[in-house]
Amino acid sequence: MLVTLIFGGNQGDRKALIGEAITEMSSIGKIELCSSLYETAPWGFKSSDSFYNQIVTYETNLLPEEVLDKCQATEQKLGRVRSGTQFCSRTMDIDILFCDSQIINTPRLTVPHPRLAQRNFVLAPLNEIMPAFIHPVIHKNIATLLAECTDTLKAEIIGKNKLLRHFVPPPL
Ligand code: ADP
Ligand code: MG
Repeated sequence: MLVTLIFGGNQGDRKALIGEAITEMSSIGKIELCSSLYETAPWGFKSSDSFYNQIVTYETNLLPEEVLDKCQATEQKLGRVRSGTQFCSRTMDIDILFCDSQIINTPRLTVPHPRLAQRNFVLAPLNEIMPAFIHPVIHKNIATLLAECTDTLKAEIIGKNKLLRHFVPPPL
């Protein structure tokens, strides 16, 4: 399956940590698409440390919950301390946005990620690599979701990825 992951952090050497996390996660499979690196003000709480975010897709033979295990192990490895509060400063957060066009609702996993359509810092990098991908629950493509998003926090490109390739939707 093609799994879409978002990497984010607002502490430590943010750029280096995201690079390390992307490399560490490549143990699940081959990298297919990679967005540019983005900077965004913190979402949902106040902090002086802005977030860096990047989105990468991997072709993997693992199951979604096995991918989540690897995401959480990588967060731990890169020094994340879980504070219990939902929106908080962290060195590394790795969330699963999509698993192909699967819809998953288990105690550990909600896919597509439930809040992705509300956030510019997710939609802007997604739109770079897969604007035509149709959200399997909302039934709109990423470009439309970004155009309709009312999020006021700007997500700005700080590191352009020149190797970027585009997702090609399967024929209908
Ligand atoms: P958040 O990412 O919401 O800021 P955490 O990273 O602490 O918070 O994740 C909290 C829980 O969210 C995890 O224990 C995980 O089981 C659950 N979760 C549900 N859906 C997903 C998903 N699509 N990607 C990552 N984690 C998820
Ligand atoms: Mg998370």
